Amino acid sequence: MPPKQIFDDRSQFIDDELVKLEKAISSLQKEILEVLVIDYAPGFIEGLILNEESLKHLYELTPIFEELAQLNNTLETKIATNLLKLTEYSKDYFKELGFKVTGIKKEINVLYEVIGITEKGVIIPSGYLSKLFNTVNVEFQQSISNYVLNSIGGNMPYQDFVKGFREVIKGSPEVDGKLMKYYKQYSFDLYSKVAALTDNYYADQLGLSYFVYDGTQIDTSRPFCVGGHDSVFGGTFEPKIHKTFSKEEAESWNALDWKGKDNASTVMIARGGFNCRHLFRWITDDEAEIKKQNQ
Ligand SMILES: [Zn+2]
Repeated sequence: MPPKQIFDDRSQFIDDELVKLEKAISSLQKEILEVLVIDYAPGFIEGLILNEESLKHLYELTPIFEELAQLNNTLETKIATNLLKLTEYSKDYFKELGFKVTGIKKEINVLYEVIGITEKGVIIPSGYLSKLFNTVNVEFQQSISNYVLNSIGGNMPYQDFVKGFREVIKGSPEVDGKLMKYYKQYSFDLYSKVAALTDNYYADQLGLSYFVYDGTQIDTSRPFCVGGHDSVFGGTFEPKIHKTFSKEEAESWNALDWKGKDNASTVMIARGGFNCRHLFRWITDDEAEIKKQNQ
């Protein structure tokens, strides 16, 4: 299979899995609402409003949150398995590019440790991934607690309270439910970041210096990637997609500022930043020389 095909297949895989993930989170939110409203109600939520010692009842949320964490486990394991699959795509890509990659396998295990999963896709407690999912859970729980706390004593009619409560969990056509919000915030970029991390690792081990800024232009593509005026940058970017760059050129972009830049990461990992689906496709020096001459 041509290397480019493997690369494109992986991008498709990432897109497909993100759509599936969104659906899974959406149904998890519905399930959570059922747990809270049907299993623990009737009377539980009403009790919070009617009882003067409402704060005391917040403790009753603890077992519910434990149950939610259990529900979340399935999703987390699925994400970990997908991340593992991404590393396979990387390996195949560089193999098809003409390199011997078997010797690198051992070092790839180090990468799994950085991500916080074992070679079998099990999430390592206190690892990066585990901490990230914990953040999702904690922020979600806090938003539920906060909603309940803020509603108490606010003279809110019961019907309004329930309506708002549903919105916090399930969201509305305009606004994502809180679980979706935090998953999107913390884990939707993870797939392409891990793909980038693994690719860079192989490229580094194989001594590659050039890549093609790969991907397509969509409505949400930002000027940094596809060209155009950027107010944060304070100027106009030339389009980068489909062009060949050296690793050094890419690293020099870190010094710039632009709309959507992910400051917590480097450009080598986060590329255009939040929600950027473009990836660096590493190529051989020979291929780079030809491409550079033609661009
Ligand atoms: Zn991009």
